[in-house]
Amino acid sequence: MSDPSLPTRRSAGVSRRGFIAGTGSILGLGLLSQTSHAAAATTSIGNGERVPVLIIGSGYGGSVAALRLAQAGIDVHMIEMGKAWDTPGSDGKIFANTKTPDVRSYWLRTRTKQPISNFLGFPLDKDVPRHTGILDAEDFSGITVYQGRGVGGGSLVNGGMAVTPKRERFGAILPSVDADEMYDVYYPRANAGLGVNEIDRAWFDTTDCYQYARVGRKHAERSGFDFVYVPNVYDFNYMKQEAAGNVPRSALAGEILYGNNAGKKSLQQTYLAQAKATGRVTISPLHRVTSVTPASGGYTVTIEQLDTGGNVTATKTVTAGKVFFAAGSVGTSKLLTKLKATGALPGLNGEVGKGWGDNGNIMCGRANHMWDPTGSLQSSIPTVGIDNWDEGGAFAEVAPLPTGIETYASLYLSVTNNPHRAQFSWNAGTGKVDLNWQTSWKQAGIDMAKSVFDKINRKEGTIYRTDLFGVYKIWGDHLT
Ligand SMILES: Cc1cc2nc3c(=O)[nH]c(=O)nc-3n(C[C@H](O)[C@H](O)[C@H](O)COP(=O)(O)OP(=O)(O)OC[C@H]3O[C@@H](n4cnc5c(N)ncnc54)[C@H](O)[C@@H]3O)c2cc1C
Repeated sequence: MSDPSLPTRRSAGVSRRGFIAGTGSILGLGLLSQTSHAAAATTSIGNGERVPVLIIGSGYGGSVAALRLAQAGIDVHMIEMGKAWDTPGSDGKIFANTKTPDVRSYWLRTRTKQPISNFLGFPLDKDVPRHTGILDAEDFSGITVYQGRGVGGGSLVNGGMAVTPKRERFGAILPSVDADEMYDVYYPRANAGLGVNEIDRAWFDTTDCYQYARVGRKHAERSGFDFVYVPNVYDFNYMKQEAAGNVPRSALAGEILYGNNAGKKSLQQTYLAQAKATGRVTISPLHRVTSVTPASGGYTVTIEQLDTGGNVTATKTVTAGKVFFAAGSVGTSKLLTKLKATGALPGLNGEVGKGWGDNGNIMCGRANHMWDPTGSLQSSIPTVGIDNWDEGGAFAEVAPLPTGIETYASLYLSVTNNPHRAQFSWNAGTGKVDLNWQTSWKQAGIDMAKSVFDKINRKEGTIYRTDLFGVYKIWGDHLT
């Protein structure tokens, strides 16, 4: 998003739903930052190597599995298609700023694909060199799916919002799981392990960088909606220091979508750092698993080694006693769909590739009155949301729009209860996996988002922004 002809800053982000009401996203642009990232024990797995356990992917699923296996005394090798993200670029920083996407920002694209594509009539995307960058905007026929690429997976690029689902909603989604154990043991353990913390409400009420969120609160409450504070893995004490001018800025510089150079606890600082400390976990970045087949003593895993241009520089076969698929909802589904269709991995059940949802994501902006400024300084870390799930099927994150100028815009990323589910299928002609999500299915989510924003607009006498997702387009309905 950074057309050099534009003087302002802009950006965007996305998030996820689970079954609750949590989102997390961002839009940001900024200035300075700093590097502070614990490198994992990275290597390049050898052709013909044998490992007891191989984990595909180094996001949340892979990192937690690696740590617990290592703590149980088992040696683990993680295979990650993205980069290690442990080396500063020529500007001295590991991660690019959201306002100035560069070679580091996108996964093998030659043009950026920013969630907020336009601003005040200007298209924001720009050409970038093709590179194994941090954010994949993966295009399927009816939807663009944003994903993190690198050691740390989605934790590198996400909004860090850490939602514990409402307990009354839990049983309907996972009826076979012991809810007492989840709420007494596992959610507290995960929150502690991830470094989840809550914003100081007194500071929230006064700091310039959350004026946009306070405007969101005022409008939500005046329309009678529940307003909730959402915990985050970004260190709010660090953010206070940013605001005080004592440390390099990250959230207050708009960093997020292409990585945070400080303040945010990604998996690199939490589970992966702990896993590394066991001495039992090794990671091969820029390695992509393409096949898993049964073999004597376990599985034969085929792995492509990539250079930073995305070219395959070697194809390796490795034997693993056990294989854990933790490649994300898209990555794991694509692999399993292919392995089932080609018969490479027998015994997979008929649910493989089915039931994929879009997180119900819908974005929109509202144009406020001149007496409701949202602030020129906006923290890129979202902390609050509007909960209309039970009544209207929507939970809306009050999202930042950190352009560096006053926009009088309120931006929202909604998670909705969209019932549509898509299916992955193997396309033997192209040798790729397709997804049959249909753009029109987003209408269900739009209707749920409208349950919140039509009401607020009526109450406030305001209108939707039409300049953020195209030309005269209200809804960001093309992504998750
Ligand atoms: C922009 C953005 C904002 C978000 N905001 C929030 C938020 O605020 N709160 C929240 O709870 N959630 C948020 N999410 C969602 C959250 O990040 C994901 O739900 C989470 O990362 C999923 O974890 P995972 O372990 O399943 O997969 P991932 O974290 O996606 O990890 C999978 C890893 O596997 C790798 N991989 C894939 N295929 C292969 C292969 N064949 N070989 C080798 N490696 C492979 C990938 O590169 C990736 O690193 C956001 C996501 C995005 C993209």
